[in-house]
Amino acid sequence: MKLLVATTQTQGQRQNDFCWATPGEILHFGSECDREGIDGACGCRRSLSGLDSLKATTTMIVAEVEISENELRNRLRAHFVKDWGMDDAAATELARVGVVKLMDLGNAFETGDVLERRGSTIRLRRGRRC
Ligand SMILES: [Zn+2]
Repeated sequence: MKLLVATTQTQGQRQNDFCWATPGEILHFGSECDREGIDGACGCRRSLSGLDSLKATTTMIVAEVEISENELRNRLRAHFVKDWGMDDAAATELARVGVVKLMDLGNAFETGDVLERRGSTIRLRRGRRC
């Protein structure tokens, strides 16, 4: 399926870019601080979080990933239980919603599109389309 994965492409286009995630790993929406601005010091509202490294990146690319919907849901659920301390029912529900959101995002763009996050918006990075 098409998903957003970490990339270093276009890093530096914004002065506050960072990519602590491992290029190629599946990204999802990590936790966010209250009252954090999009360009705030933390970066949680302009980045997505890697499912393997648990680290964030402000640059993401659409890629075809060999994983089933069921596998992705299970990975998210396990992450929420293990790393966020959620109970199983809450983690299951959040994973169910999360997978739909990630698949919709992947399908909204073309493979190879480099994207950025601005709060609740995911969009193409400037200059990536001819
Ligand atoms: Zn934050």
